[in-house]
Amino acid sequence: MKEFFMVVNPTAAGGRVEKIWKKKIVPKIDSKLEYDFEYTTGIGHALELAKQKSNEGYKVICSVGGDGTANEVINGVLKAEKKSIFSAFTVGTGNDIPTVFGIPEGDIDAIIESLITGQDKKFDVGYCVNADRYFGGVASMGFDAEVADRSNRGTKKLSGTINYQRAVLTTLLKFKPYNIIIEPNTGQTVEGPRMLVAIGNGKRYGGGMHICPNADPHDNLFNGTTLKKISRFTLIRLLSLVYDGKHLNHPAVETFEGNIIKVDSPEKKCLYQVDGEILGHLPETFITKPNFITARVPDPWIPYSEMWEQQLNEKKK
Ligand SMILES: [Mg+2]
Repeated sequence: MKEFFMVVNPTAAGGRVEKIWKKKIVPKIDSKLEYDFEYTTGIGHALELAKQKSNEGYKVICSVGGDGTANEVINGVLKAEKKSIFSAFTVGTGNDIPTVFGIPEGDIDAIIESLITGQDKKFDVGYCVNADRYFGGVASMGFDAEVADRSNRGTKKLSGTINYQRAVLTTLLKFKPYNIIIEPNTGQTVEGPRMLVAIGNGKRYGGGMHICPNADPHDNLFNGTTLKKISRFTLIRLLSLVYDGKHLNHPAVETFEGNIIKVDSPEKKCLYQVDGEILGHLPETFITKPNFITARVPDPWIPYSEMWEQQLNEKKK
């Protein structure tokens, strides 16, 4: 039995992943890793493959693609009877999910190195009770779920950030806030018209927007961010602050925490998404699963919060 199974989504990143896999990954791993691989053929296939290969006994299941593929592989591994270790080549449109675990972003050599000499580390994941779906990064509803929906349907030939920003602008023109009720198991119920609600196991979505900047995948807690009704102009200004996680002090922003969080909208028309995948309309109950997934990460391991802090400091220079 080989150690690694690669779940390759050739259509990820507007079809670029097939080329990256063949030209940049395969030539480097052929002499270094004992692996098998398979191309995915459509939505849901990465999940099924990861589950099947996990049960067959591969030690590490590696997602090759973007966040959609990573989310499916996470679900496949966690829904298998024999749970494999998760890892990922972050080569898609959005690569927010693997960063939660401190898996190097886009650096193929560093990722290969981490597969060979890395360590196996446990992390929290989020779980959606109604949809029976795990997530590594952020669950969100309202404005940003509509953006994710639009961005999934948009052309992925553009870079993740540009594709996402375009979806943001189109959604801005059409969006109306939803009445939302958020019930965290710790703290106050939050109620009223909201532009968006984000529940973070990880800090970021949308290709680097740090919507839940204090989220930590090792504390059995979600960090939530919600945004009251504001004008389009204020929303644009605020979204520009989200990349660096500088939005929390804005008067329209509220935060909440909990490890069980129920969210509903009386209109029953509010979409929600996890890791960029639309799951349907509210209500949903989100639960943290502490130390639930094992990921192959670099050794020494640097938490993403430190990597991010470094990036912010370099920006200041
Ligand atoms: Mg946490």
